[in-house]
This record gives sequence, C-alpha cells and structure tokens, in this order.
Amino acid sequence: MEPSSSLSRAPAALASRMSTHVIVIGGGISGLATAAALARSGVRVTLLEGDGDLGGLGTTFPFRGGTLERFYHCILPTDRALVRWIHALGLGADLMWKRIRMGFTYRLKTYKMDGPLDLLRFSPLTFGERLRLGLMGLRARGSAADLSLDDVPVGDWARAQVGDRVFEVLWKPLLEAKIGDGYPGIPATWLANRLSREKNAGPEVKGCLQRGYRSLIDAFAADLRAHGATIRTNTRARAIERDGEGMAVALEDGTRETADAVVSTLPMLQFQTMTRGLNLGPEIADLKLDYQGVLSAVFLTRRALSPYYWMPVVDSGVTAQGLVEMSNLVPLERSDGLHVSYLMNYTHRNSALFHKTDAELFAMYRRDLETLFPDSGRDIEEQFLFRAPFVEPIWTLQYRSKRPPTRVLPGRLYLACTAQVYPDVNSWNSCCSVVDRMIPEMATDLGFSPAPSASA
Ligand SMILES: Cc1cc2nc3c(=O)[nH]c(=O)nc-3n(C[C@H](O)[C@H](O)[C@H](O)COP(=O)(O)OP(=O)(O)OC[C@H]3O[C@@H](n4cnc5c(N)ncnc54)[C@H](O)[C@@H]3O)c2cc1C
Repeated sequence: MEPSSSLSRAPAALASRMSTHVIVIGGGISGLATAAALARSGVRVTLLEGDGDLGGLGTTFPFRGGTLERFYHCILPTDRALVRWIHALGLGADLMWKRIRMGFTYRLKTYKMDGPLDLLRFSPLTFGERLRLGLMGLRARGSAADLSLDDVPVGDWARAQVGDRVFEVLWKPLLEAKIGDGYPGIPATWLANRLSREKNAGPEVKGCLQRGYRSLIDAFAADLRAHGATIRTNTRARAIERDGEGMAVALEDGTRETADAVVSTLPMLQFQTMTRGLNLGPEIADLKLDYQGVLSAVFLTRRALSPYYWMPVVDSGVTAQGLVEMSNLVPLERSDGLHVSYLMNYTHRNSALFHKTDAELFAMYRRDLETLFPDSGRDIEEQFLFRAPFVEPIWTLQYRSKRPPTRVLPGRLYLACTAQVYPDVNSWNSCCSVVDRMIPEMATDLGFSPAPSASA
C-alpha cells in the first residue's frame, strides 16, 4: 500500500496558482463552500453535482412561484462558520433570528418544553426524575469536551445519569428516532455535543434566511461563476483515479475530467467506493461508517398545528418520530400564507419503512397527523414527500481517533464530508468548519493564498 505522504508534491512543481485546477465533487454545502473558498483564492474550479440542482440535503422544491426546503433546516446563533459565509455572500441582511418554542408529545399529550421550569412540570416523570433529567442537561454542557466520553456508549451514559425509567420513557425513543437501532454503539460524546450545541445558545433562538436556503445556494452559485468556476449539474462521478502527475474523475456518462487535485464531499461510503482503485491507507479504506437515512413528509395546511417549532413524539401510536412546524420560524409569505410542517422518520436505507411507496407513506403520515391533531386532515392543501439515504453518520466508539483526514493524498486528493464533523453535530455549520480546516492544507500543498473571506 502506498503511504499517503509519498505522493506529496512540492508547491514549486505547480506552474502558478492561476493554472491550478481542482475538481470538487458534490454540490451540497460542503462542495459549495469548498468550491467558493478555492475560486475566491484564484484556483480554477470545476464543481460536479450529480443531481439537476445544487444544495444537497439543504436543497429546495418549487412551491407556488417560490421554493421550500425539502428537509427542515434552521441556523443556530453558534453557527459561526456558516454565518460567516452568509455575510461573505452578501446575505447578512436576510438573516433573521427568532425566539421559538419547543414541545414534547408523550402519549398524545403535548407538553411545553421551553426551559428548566417546563422540565420541572413534565408530569409523566416523578419530581426526582425531572431533577435528574435537568442535571443531565447541565452536566452535558460541561462534558462536551470530555474526551473519555468517546469510549462510553451513549445509552450507558444517559441511563447512568437519569435512571432506567427516564431512559426508557424519554432518551431511548429519542435516540432511536435519530439513529435507529444503531444507537447503542454511538459514543456519549455525540449526545453531550448535541445538548451543548442546542442549549448553549441560551434561550431557544433559531435563525433562518428570509428567502430560505435557496437564496444561499443561489448566492454560492453566483459567486462561483463570478470567480470563473465551472458548475456542472447532472454530472455524476463514478471513480477517482490517478492521471499521471494529476488526478481524474471518471464520470457515469463514460467521460473523464482531469485536474491537478480533487476534493470529494460525498458521504464516506461513496468516497470509499470511488477510490477503491487508489489503494488508500487503512484510515480511509478500512473505516466502517454507516449512515442513517431520513423520510420527510411536508404538509401545507391552512391553519397552524401548534405553537412549537420542534416537537418529538414519543409513545403516541404514530410512526413519525417528530414534527417540525417550520412556519413557527420562517415567514408565512414564503409558503403563500400556508403553514409548513414536516413529519419525519430517521431510518436506515435498507429498512422496510424507507422502501414503502410514496402512496403508502402519504397515507401513513396523514394518519399520523390526524392522530396528533384531530381534524387537521381537512386543512391540508398540499403534501410532498422526500427521502434521503445518507444523512446522519452512525458514529462508532472512539470515533475521534478514527475521524478521516481532510488531506488524503497531499496535493492531489482531499475529503470534506459529514464523516469528519465529529464530535460536532452534523449541520451546514459543521460542514463549513471541516472546509475551513481543509483549505489551509490545500493552500500549502498547492501553493495558493486563501482569500480572507474564504477561511476562518
Ligand atoms: C431532515 C434533515 C434536517 C436537517 N436539519 C438541519 C438543520 O436544521 N441545520 C443544519 O445546519 N443542518 C441540518 N441538516 C444537516 C445538513 O443537511 C447536512 O449536514 C448537510 O447538508 C451535509 O452537506 P454535504 O454537502 O456534506 O452533503 P450533501 O448535502 O449530502 O451533499 C452531497 C452532494 O453530492 C451529490 N452527489 C452524490 N453522489 C454524487 C456523485 N456520484 N457525483 C456527483 N455528485 C454527487 C449529491 O447530489 C449532493 O448534492 C439536516 C438534514 C436533514 C436530512
């Protein structure tokens, strides 16, 4: 096996930074931020996106002359790397922050869950159990940086803090909702970071862009074109190969695109498949990282369903694991005055649920909606269904030491994808942070100076 470092090239070998050509595979946020950072630094960029549209998991669908997100997305006040891009692309004035409310539905009763006082009033648990739950939240914030949690299964950690009953009533369903039956293998670090990310933001304040993620995706595309980048949609990469001193991407249409270097932003499993011929080291080739998929039904209703933005649903006789009522965050004008709500299930791409037909899923989610909000069915004006197979990496114990490098073959092959956001929560912000780590490495290897707006 060829050691990665032996492929390092001296920057001097490159004629000039202007002639350096980099192919970026994937037009989600990781690909857009990578391509924009490189193009702004004077590198010639070709962005390859397999779908007809950019944006990846944050992409949109047309709705009554505007667009809505396929999957609910919000921005947190702590999302510094993402917010920096929003400002750099001239969308700062579009960024809106709003105090939102959270609910929790247990056995068909919805409880307000906006803070410690609501937790103390959460009657399905005894008072002592509520206190332990509150203490767990506090401890999680202090533990987010605790390296030893990487060795501890999340279930063991949560159970030890809140006891068996609270774990079974609350944490187990919530963990299953996000990770499915793979949750027992997740390190406690993941949960501590998640609790810390969401609660350290102070009161529940979330952000959105006035004209939605579409405006950010379009701003990235316009910025790329303004800096001379080539964007090729409907262009699916099949394999990454060596090409003399440079690299090549074999495309599914049978053609090849060559460049000095390639950055892949695809989920890890796809990257591993595409690089099988490269004999990469075990840190890439042998990493076992599966992903949880997601199903999401979008309902547009004439009336609001609840005052809550996010509402997990536990033990309530429905299949959906939660409801995000997006219109409690984003302006109603974006949806022609209708209320936008998402019912979702995180489920593996091989599960029977993931493979139900659209008609079966619509019927199931409409039933769920009517169970949770009787009579809501007659308020539905439109409905949409989306599924994605690779969403949440199913982290394994000690992942911190397994996290793959961004610099795979120095000067030639780089990786910026969701497999590297750990221990951060998977988000547009954490993807931008991975790109921020990678760009200085590329700059050193390829001999360019990162543009100030393009790096942390
Ligand atoms: C239901 C849901 C809710 C979420 N909520 C939030 C939230 O509130 N806030 C937040 O910040 N994040 C949220 N996220 C997470 C966020 O969407 C991801 O972290 C982020 O989109 C990952 O970006 P990415 O570019 O790494 O990957 P992706 O978005 O998956 O992009 C990969 C791109 O590569 C393309 N591609 C795949 N194969 C090929 C190929 N062979 N050749 C060329 N192109 C290819 C794909 O079409 C895609 O465009 C949510 C995700 C989901 C699903």
